[in-house]
Amino acid sequence: MKKVLVVAAHPDDEILGCGGTIARHIEDGYEVHVAIMAEGVTSRDVTRDTEMRGSDLAFLSDCANHAHKILGSTSLVLHNFPDNRMDSVDLLDIIKVIEGLINQIKPEIVYTHCDCDLNIDHRITHQAVATACRPAPGRSIKKLISFEVPSSTEWQSPVTSNNFIPNYFIDISRTINQKLLSLEAYRSEMRDWPHPRSYKAVENLARYRGSTVGFEAAESFMLIRELIFYPDKKDKRAFKGLHLIPAGIENADMILEWRNDIESRRASTIPDIISREDHIEWLEKSLQMENRKIFIAVEEDTPVGVVRADFLDGEHELSWTVSPDFRDRGLGKKIVSLLVTSLSLPVSAKVNKNNKASIKIAEYAGMKKKSKNGDMNLYRRDVHTRESDPKDFGE
Ligand SMILES: [Zn+2]
Repeated sequence: MKKVLVVAAHPDDEILGCGGTIARHIEDGYEVHVAIMAEGVTSRDVTRDTEMRGSDLAFLSDCANHAHKILGSTSLVLHNFPDNRMDSVDLLDIIKVIEGLINQIKPEIVYTHCDCDLNIDHRITHQAVATACRPAPGRSIKKLISFEVPSSTEWQSPVTSNNFIPNYFIDISRTINQKLLSLEAYRSEMRDWPHPRSYKAVENLARYRGSTVGFEAAESFMLIRELIFYPDKKDKRAFKGLHLIPAGIENADMILEWRNDIESRRASTIPDIISREDHIEWLEKSLQMENRKIFIAVEEDTPVGVVRADFLDGEHELSWTVSPDFRDRGLGKKIVSLLVTSLSLPVSAKVNKNNKASIKIAEYAGMKKKSKNGDMNLYRRDVHTRESDPKDFGE
């Protein structure tokens, strides 16, 4: 699962900067961890007094927790660096806190402020995050992205080196309402229109950013760095302890997630998204059927795929799905072969003629193309090609 870390200076900056994107990442099944560096509020007084502002700080912390409940964020941590006085702290102390978070969470994507904001805490947070995210061997971070914060980014003096130039846009047309709703949790920080930190201005900015790239609404960012790796070749053909176990109803959500993956649907005879309700009903029925067996392929302790055999007219018709996280490793071949060697009768599979991966899997398991029906080709392995003793399902 992909992990995202958002580091913002003050409570509400993270929503102003990337609230719609947080909601979208959650919708896509990512983990989103949020860290807020400064306490907020205390800069409103001439001298910092956290005791006097104790109830305000507690209230702001409740607001933050509420806002992230609305978005569904995985975790929220509030640090207490001095509000709008982060320049009174050694930069290294701030970097150490962020490094600790990165070591603990191991995010692939990190969002933070841009270094062009007027606000001093924003610039310091950017500096600290950029330092903590420096790309050394073995680091988890693949993408470092900076966001804009209305009422800071656009308020910086007009010097050419300090401009926010968006080059990375995320469509938030489906999550903009969640962004606005989570800002309501921070209503003490919001202002009346035409302040840039008003609901209307925040929505206008998202609409404007969207319109520049053809989306209904967008959050725009500056991509600082993206690293493109080769897939890890070390475990490419390891298949450590790969084995099949009979599927149970407890595997329902996992199988559904694999089945509804876009690549799986492209390869399927029925490419539609299957609802959870229909899937559970199908699985419950399937588990009762005498002539249907479903197995989960497990590598070490990790489920990596599912394979099914339907016994009909004297042969086993097979179908399979490899978990989207474990594709391109040749696992499908091993999983299907494992099942085929435990079956005593002819086996067959319907394979989409454009699905090269599945054609290879069928051929590896000893099946040959017999006939075609539209986009689907029928592959079969006849019983006399088997060399080992006939066995049943190998349960
Ligand atoms: Zn701020």
